[in-house]
Amino acid sequence: MTQPTAAAGASFVRWLRDRVVVDARGSELEEADFAPAGRLWLGRLAPETTVQNSRLGERAERLDPCACGVRVLPTDTAPRTISCGVSARAWKLEQAADPHGAPAVWKKGLPISVDVELPTPAAQGQVTAGGRPQLSQAFADAGFPGLGAEVRAELEPGKQGLELVVTVVNVSPEEIPSGDSNLYEVVLSADVGATAPFLLDDLPDSFRYSREVPAYGVNGGVSVTESGTFVTSDVAEYEQPRPSFWDEDAAGPPPDLSFASLAGDPRPAMKGLVDALHQWGGAYWSDEELERRAAQDYWSEETVGAARAAAAEWLEEIRRLEGGLALLNDNPLVLRAFSLMNAAFAAAPGIRHAQWRPFQAGFMLGSIDSLVRDSTSRSLVDILRFPTGGGKTETYLGLLVTAAFLDRLGGKGEGVSGWARFPLRMLSLQQTQRFADVFAAAELIREGEKLGGAPFSVGFLVGPGTPNDIKPIPGPGDPDPNDPEMPKRYQVLLHCPFCNGDKVEMRFDKASWRLEHVCPALDCPWRGPLPFFIVDQELFRFLPTVVVGTLDKAAVISLQAAMRGLYGAPLGRCPDGHGFTYAKRAKSPTGCLFPGCTARPIALQQADSLYPPGIRIQDELHLLRDSLGAVDAHYEGLLDHLQASAGTAAKVLASSATIEGYRRQVEVLYRKSARVFPLPGPVAGRSFWASDTAELARLFVGFAPRGTTLDYAADRATESLQRAVRRVLTEGELVAAEASVDQAELPSLLSYYGTDVIYGSTLKDVEASARSFETQFDIQANAVTLTGRTPLDDVRAALERLVTPEAEYEKRIHLVAASSMLSHGVDVDRLNAMVMLGLPLATAEFIQTSSRVGRSVPGLVLVLHKIGRERDHKVFRTFRQFVANADRLVDPVPITRRSRRVLELTFPGLVMGRILGVHEPEALRRGLDALTTPPRFRTAIARLGLTEDAERAVIEAILGATGPLDEGIRTDIATYMRDFFRAALDPVTTARFTSELLTKDVMRSLRDVEAQVPIYSRGGTR
Ligand SMILES: [Zn+2]
Ligand SMILES: [Zn+2]
Repeated sequence: MTQPTAAAGASFVRWLRDRVVVDARGSELEEADFAPAGRLWLGRLAPETTVQNSRLGERAERLDPCACGVRVLPTDTAPRTISCGVSARAWKLEQAADPHGAPAVWKKGLPISVDVELPTPAAQGQVTAGGRPQLSQAFADAGFPGLGAEVRAELEPGKQGLELVVTVVNVSPEEIPSGDSNLYEVVLSADVGATAPFLLDDLPDSFRYSREVPAYGVNGGVSVTESGTFVTSDVAEYEQPRPSFWDEDAAGPPPDLSFASLAGDPRPAMKGLVDALHQWGGAYWSDEELERRAAQDYWSEETVGAARAAAAEWLEEIRRLEGGLALLNDNPLVLRAFSLMNAAFAAAPGIRHAQWRPFQAGFMLGSIDSLVRDSTSRSLVDILRFPTGGGKTETYLGLLVTAAFLDRLGGKGEGVSGWARFPLRMLSLQQTQRFADVFAAAELIREGEKLGGAPFSVGFLVGPGTPNDIKPIPGPGDPDPNDPEMPKRYQVLLHCPFCNGDKVEMRFDKASWRLEHVCPALDCPWRGPLPFFIVDQELFRFLPTVVVGTLDKAAVISLQAAMRGLYGAPLGRCPDGHGFTYAKRAKSPTGCLFPGCTARPIALQQADSLYPPGIRIQDELHLLRDSLGAVDAHYEGLLDHLQASAGTAAKVLASSATIEGYRRQVEVLYRKSARVFPLPGPVAGRSFWASDTAELARLFVGFAPRGTTLDYAADRATESLQRAVRRVLTEGELVAAEASVDQAELPSLLSYYGTDVIYGSTLKDVEASARSFETQFDIQANAVTLTGRTPLDDVRAALERLVTPEAEYEKRIHLVAASSMLSHGVDVDRLNAMVMLGLPLATAEFIQTSSRVGRSVPGLVLVLHKIGRERDHKVFRTFRQFVANADRLVDPVPITRRSRRVLELTFPGLVMGRILGVHEPEALRRGLDALTTPPRFRTAIARLGLTEDAERAVIEAILGATGPLDEGIRTDIATYMRDFFRAALDPVTTARFTSELLTKDVMRSLRDVEAQVPIYSRGGTR
């Protein structure tokens, strides 16, 4: 199915929005067999007395308001007249439901429309009111005696001066003869005279964008007409433009960044990129331009200073890229590796694009020098701040594949080249597939170019989902090597990375003891099991070229000696082809991890220092916050320490959705300095790397449901979307006319807008909405649930159906209830309508989640605010500015390394990590036994000269706990270390294993922290 045009998509999402609003207000109903008060969730006002009598207090006013209106900042406080228009409808019970089955009959009265003038109050605290007699009369004339409303004006103190609040209030009694005292479809328009804009104080003052807000809505949105009249609205909106990644007007024609051309010689295009950057910056960042803007917009001294500093940073960015260009010119190995990487992208069947976006090429060029061993920039953390619309996975991949080629060219024939880590279960099958696709293409090139070394391969190292090992005699719940059904439960690849065939099969091969993905296609260029590892123990045995996995697995460095390959060298190799070997254990008496192997390991084929990975990638850096960030900071310190003990260092590359606070966060996590790329441009929506266009990317619509629960409103909104899109099948001509689209576009619109995503930020919300699809829907809909708990099989099956839908609409997936699991790397172009159940807690999650829709055609994001909640209430007020500036909103990442409670959890891991990674290999080198038991460890203490003092100092250094503020942490380290040495040196200890000498267990996953340490409130960590 071809995709709809951007214009048709834009018209269609606006039409879908209208359908939701029309249904929620009931504006197309004249009669109903249900009570409107129980069903309609927009445009209504409850009687003021109901709100006053509610025990919910102020929340009642938000959840079921009795007033709506506008809040403005008058230019002066001289008395003035406010001219308003009020329109409303009312509903009447014509006939109650018959106990024998006949439904109730409700009828809507004729429209009420009244003009009201009232004076402004004379002083703060006073209220003026108007229109009550006219409105009462109008309601009585329409057949609703007793209903009433009035317009009120009030002056309230605000930060910028007195604020004028104009509202229409339902002053009807709670009980009324017509049966429903709510007012419906209420709209207030108010001409209040001259006003000044509010200045949004959540946004930092900046030369880049305006912080002005013309007016705030009261219990709803507000729009302003051309003549300056404010009109209340049920929704708050923002139309997000689609970025273009090249600004031809200012930068000239784009260089040829196609994979194919860069595979030949990347230097001309890269030079073209740097030249264009110079040219563009000359126009936008020059002194003359900044002076012009300063004069035009009355910049303060401070703003001028900030703009000049940003211009200097821009020069720094140019220099960084020039450095990368010089390296390509001077270092033939880097040049060849970069070219081969492009050849791999050109050949990979799963990569749909044919070229890099300029910012992707820019990031690679700006970080390529870090791939060279001993480069000074290795100690900097390079952050890719991805613009919405993405492409970051490919960007990491570009650098990883370059690194892998460079390793082979530079004599590293085996071992891990890079370790990419995604937060928790946010690594998607689609992302993993892309890693496999590109490395498969790279492997065919490696072979064709006769670069030598081991074939390129990919390992998948994640928390729950894949086996840690496969035991010959499985315990309860373990994968059973004799169960023919077992292998397919663990299929990860969606298609063959070599030939793109979709018939990938799974098998367990006892001879090699491997859980294999196999491609049965006869014309596949690959023979035998695909070079793709998913069992932890197989990863340890074969050390894939790139390991892609979840962050939580870093905890395993303190549990498994065989994790060495991710920071150092293995100890040897099995002569029987079973792979790399590690310290001996009861189950692996020679150190070979193949069950029952007794062969004596032989020496490695290359120097130890070549084995450790040169790159560590951290995806979604902003998610490493709170207790998870604190724990990870300790384990990052341990990883760096262990790798330094092996004589090397890894470059950290990261990505982030926000730009606030990254320097401090990187300092806490890695104790390193950070560089971010690309830098923001001189004006919001305009930088060299991305500029807004006139095309719509996403229509964001904010709602504050009234008089019903959020869940109910979400069900109704979703049902409205489904009903609307299904009309394409039954009354296409009418839909085409209503939505102003060409009828020929309808089939593709049905495909691209026929599946709705219901997004909940908690598992509870997601599960509740999935349940309500079954019980609350009046239409038949096929639903799937995608959360972190969904088995991999089901995720894969759902993704396949979403990407390649059934021919008949009735058989397709119509609804997807999803958690944040969906918001990371699930790239399905057909998902373009989303209902958000409440605002995600972190702004970054909001950005990330909403970017799942509207990837290739305009998307619709309906945000239902949990309006009783303070944050949702605040965001709804400034919804437009919130969405437009989401990535700039001050959302500091709460993170610390100094938590003593976190140290209590991580200390056992820090000690065991060091024993497994440093002391045990040293002991083995000196002919001692593996350090698994207290007596052996005691021997090592004596023979290796380990002391409590020295170990304590090392842990302090790992954590950077050396400053005056680290007194508390140092005290705890000293206490824990004393206890540990005391236990270790106690000859009658009851501990059976060395790890039992510690008073607490070693963490099994970095995720354990979330169960044990409450998430800090903001500010509590600083
Ligand atoms: Zn194949
Ligand atoms: Zn072996």
